[in-house]
Amino acid sequence: MNKSRVTITVKTAINAKKSSKKIENSELKKSSKLKNKLFLISGKESLESFLKDENLNSWQLKKIKNLNNGSGFMSFETARGVLGVLKYDQKISDNICDFDSTDYTYFRDNISKWIYRLDEEKDFEVQTLKLSKDALTGFGVGLELFSYGYTENMKINVSVSKEDKKEIQKGLSLGVSINTSRELVDTPPNLLNPKTFKEIIEKEFKNENQFSVKILNSSQLVKNGFGLISGVGQGSVEGPYLVHVTYKSKGAKKSIGAVGKGITFDSGGLDMKPSKFMRWMKKDMGGAASLYGLTHWIKTEKPKVNVDFVFALAENSVSEKSFRPGDILNAQNGKTVEIHNTDAEGRLALASGYNYLKSINKPFDYLFDIATLTGAIKHGLGDRVAGLFTNSSKEGSKLVELSHISGDPLWMMPQPHWTGAQLKSPIADYVNAGAGYGGAISASEFLKNFARPDKKTVWFHLDTYAWTDSARDSFRKKGATGQAVQVLKRWISSIE
Ligand SMILES: [Zn+2]
Repeated sequence: MNKSRVTITVKTAINAKKSSKKIENSELKKSSKLKNKLFLISGKESLESFLKDENLNSWQLKKIKNLNNGSGFMSFETARGVLGVLKYDQKISDNICDFDSTDYTYFRDNISKWIYRLDEEKDFEVQTLKLSKDALTGFGVGLELFSYGYTENMKINVSVSKEDKKEIQKGLSLGVSINTSRELVDTPPNLLNPKTFKEIIEKEFKNENQFSVKILNSSQLVKNGFGLISGVGQGSVEGPYLVHVTYKSKGAKKSIGAVGKGITFDSGGLDMKPSKFMRWMKKDMGGAASLYGLTHWIKTEKPKVNVDFVFALAENSVSEKSFRPGDILNAQNGKTVEIHNTDAEGRLALASGYNYLKSINKPFDYLFDIATLTGAIKHGLGDRVAGLFTNSSKEGSKLVELSHISGDPLWMMPQPHWTGAQLKSPIADYVNAGAGYGGAISASEFLKNFARPDKKTVWFHLDTYAWTDSARDSFRKKGATGQAVQVLKRWISSIE
């Protein structure tokens, strides 16, 4: 497992005053053994006056002056240690297509520059000027994301003012939610299979009083008619499972039903993937992992909503028991599906998840799923923007906007009514893989047929990648990203 060996301690700086006020140099000398100091600044400020107590010499002041306009990072050695300035000052474009940096994303994504700059002793004091709560949270998220997967021991000690501490800690906690998801995705598929994934979820909520867990194992799935996920998982030694986690909050006005795709390894089945595409298929449970990460945030923050999570767990494996192209599978809602491609298995598992949510007869205000579903969406949107499909363009626009602020981008995709024709079968209700272009759209259409949102229910589907192919920002290496945890967190906060 990819356990981090980094401890991050945030403590209140002795003699720290309000975040926007300066700490006198003499006080610092008296109060702190810290050597390194980071200034976080947002907006237009003259840095020279802000730093005047630092006794900087002229070349240093000149360097700092270059930062007066715009955003950037700068650092140098001083007599007392490393001094760094991370500054955000950007006019956000009206055009959301740009997905400009916000103060939240800027501090989240750039804090790694400062940590890299420090020597082994990563003790530092933070002084902030005009930072929003969001910017401080972003700073905390960035620290936590950066700490992920370190194999050597590292201690990061941060001294801040009391007011800043609270927001930074919120960020650290959200960072843990994201890293929880990353760790599941990065776990090798011989260790994380449907059974071990199910056990992790079971154990996590065992003693949580606002949560309950119900599990359908493979024989219960067959007995209860969940033929789609059963078909997908039947070639594998372990699983499949539908794991239902209920979160109940007193005073909740809205209820959410959420399904996550948890294909712990996707060989493609008998329509087998070429090696190049199979190599990273441990990540095909990225949707379920992001939902699991979200439950960590819910457990910590206890938002006032009710949520029914369904983790659709299976391995798409090859054996004499595997489902075949040409098979007709029976869904729990009475519909039949002709298999055209065994590699289009995620939508089958998710459809069973939706069938399950329908079967518990709750009126949901919101229904959604999250899945690493199609290669087609990556061709269209790249590896960092998830496809958003919805029955409500109003809610969709709101989600896109929230995704910008969260630095966890979504883009709304069309769902034209004629797409349904691609899914017609002469011998069943549907085929599982649409022919022709727009594979992400036909996949979404398939799911919508099973989510069947009524007029009062907002439905959306997120097609994600959940992975970065190289290091960037606070992600120090190739691997899982916990995609959509941040935007879903913000979205839930907006509806509670
Ligand atoms: Zn597949």
